[in-house]
Amino acid sequence: MRKVPRFALVLLYCFLLTGALAAQSPGTPAAQSQPTSSAPTMASPAAAAQMTAAASAPTTEYKLPPDKLAKSTALYELRGKLRIIDTVWGFAILLIILYMGVAAKYRGWAENMAGNGIAQAFVFVPLTLLTITILGWPLDAYQQSVSRQYGLSVQGWSSWFGDALIVTAIVMVVGTMAIGVLIWRIRRSPRYWWLQAWLISVPFVVLLFVLEPLIIDPLFNKFEPLTKDNLPLVQELEKVTARGGLTIPRDRMFLMKASEKVTTLNAYVTGFGPSKRVVVWDNTIQKAGTPETLFVFGHEMGHYVLDHVVYGMVLTSLGLLLGLYVLYRLSGWFLARFGQRWQIRELGDWAAVPMILLIFSILSFISTPVASTISRQFEHNADVYGLEVTHGINANSQEAGAHAFQTLGELSLSYPYPGKLVVFWYYDHPAIPDRVRFAHEYDPWSKGEQPKYVK
Ligand SMILES: [Zn+2]
Repeated sequence: MRKVPRFALVLLYCFLLTGALAAQSPGTPAAQSQPTSSAPTMASPAAAAQMTAAASAPTTEYKLPPDKLAKSTALYELRGKLRIIDTVWGFAILLIILYMGVAAKYRGWAENMAGNGIAQAFVFVPLTLLTITILGWPLDAYQQSVSRQYGLSVQGWSSWFGDALIVTAIVMVVGTMAIGVLIWRIRRSPRYWWLQAWLISVPFVVLLFVLEPLIIDPLFNKFEPLTKDNLPLVQELEKVTARGGLTIPRDRMFLMKASEKVTTLNAYVTGFGPSKRVVVWDNTIQKAGTPETLFVFGHEMGHYVLDHVVYGMVLTSLGLLLGLYVLYRLSGWFLARFGQRWQIRELGDWAAVPMILLIFSILSFISTPVASTISRQFEHNADVYGLEVTHGINANSQEAGAHAFQTLGELSLSYPYPGKLVVFWYYDHPAIPDRVRFAHEYDPWSKGEQPKYVK
């Protein structure tokens, strides 16, 4: 999974109901994404060499050596608790703002300072979003400290805080526009605002998908053309794209300098239309062998060829429509029940914004397993594609796939025995043991069966 800054997810969760899906489905064969950033201890160069050497013994099952198993178990348990704390704290922040009358106070300031609704939006919304974001920082910082402690992140605190500030700025700009439009439509059209706000949002969702790799991603990481230092690899990759009957122009292949921040492997497909591209993290090239890198790339190519970014975009929009409609249907009950207590005059009142975000957060939590399940299916399909498209190029495509997952799991400290409910609810990629087993066993060729995607 690509690492999505948590605040960006908060934004997406607030505004795009299935933001998780949108941000994650174009992800990678990496480990399941975690609320804490998914990244691993770099093994020493010797260990890396060992891992490559181990490719000679078949990878039939995902296994961790005792020291890593102990770490991964501790991390799995800690993350389980953190998920619950994170969810509860997310709701608590909004409830604190509502019960303490913070929103009503900000509304008063906005109305005193600005005459019209547009100017009020620029006072009220950034103030509210800034408050929510800052209240989230301590838990975010703790999650980052866990990642550092387990060697998954090598990002320094000043760099981490710099990223947090950039995300906050993006949330404030995009959030002000989104919430401003929503409140404007609620005031003007009490019965059809949900449909109108959705119609207005659709082109912006598309724009967000197009602009993300061009404007947002470069704010957090450095990119360079993959051909710059890795021409031999690009030539190997072109064998894979040719096998899949596809040309990905060389100027659509990028290397991301992920090693400055994290230690795990990754690659992903992102963007839409003029910005569609493949990104390979430098860690992948440094820590995985060429056959494994080709498989990872093949998996990403699967997302590209099978149009997963488009599906992600369509599902995000549909999720948003559903979310707005449910908000429309539920808001009356919330207002009748809590309106007076929270000092909210009506749904079009600025003070209703935290309540709207609360309802979205609840819907987002409930829809997590749906988004995760859809994402896991996309990822599985990309795994199938990756195995098929490297068949005949990698000497043993199944082993390269299985070993890539083993390496990935080891670097990310992926827990070998995750609970079924945890996987169902939170994992946006199939669990690593399942992926290793599948890669090892998937062999339509020797069974005389038709491969699913690449004939
Ligand atoms: Zn993927």
